[in-house]
Amino acid sequence: MRHEYATKPREQIAAILATERRYLSAAEIFERLEKAEAGVSLSTVYRTLERLREKGVATSRLDERGEATYLACEPSHHHHAICRVCGGVEDVPCEAIERFARSLHDERGFMLDGHTIEFFGRCKSCG
Ligand SMILES: [Zn+2]
Ligand SMILES: [Zn+2]
Ligand SMILES: [Zn+2]
Repeated sequence: MRHEYATKPREQIAAILATERRYLSAAEIFERLEKAEAGVSLSTVYRTLERLREKGVATSRLDERGEATYLACEPSHHHHAICRVCGGVEDVPCEAIERFARSLHDERGFMLDGHTIEFFGRCKSCG
């Protein structure tokens, strides 16, 4: 596809993340760009992913091997349900968890400034 050559790496990488809806490593994104003959280097992929994360349009987590993986994500606070089969990620707002987090301060005086909670299982289509 001719027009892909003209697209900036940042747009290409953001598009891959937006379509996949699962955590991808820089190497996996690099592989896809290679297939599309995008001519983007692996170090550009690393740099671009970090920039997307800094801008708040992507989030990252370490996978089981300790490798950084990235997901297109909105900056507003929410949690993720991650499918162990297909890797699909769903956003889950969770008011009950936010209430519990606040109770840590009310009941223990613990000054909470953030939390990370992930849910694992199988998505609807993986049953
Ligand atoms: Zn999200
Ligand atoms: Zn699934
Ligand atoms: Zn939360």
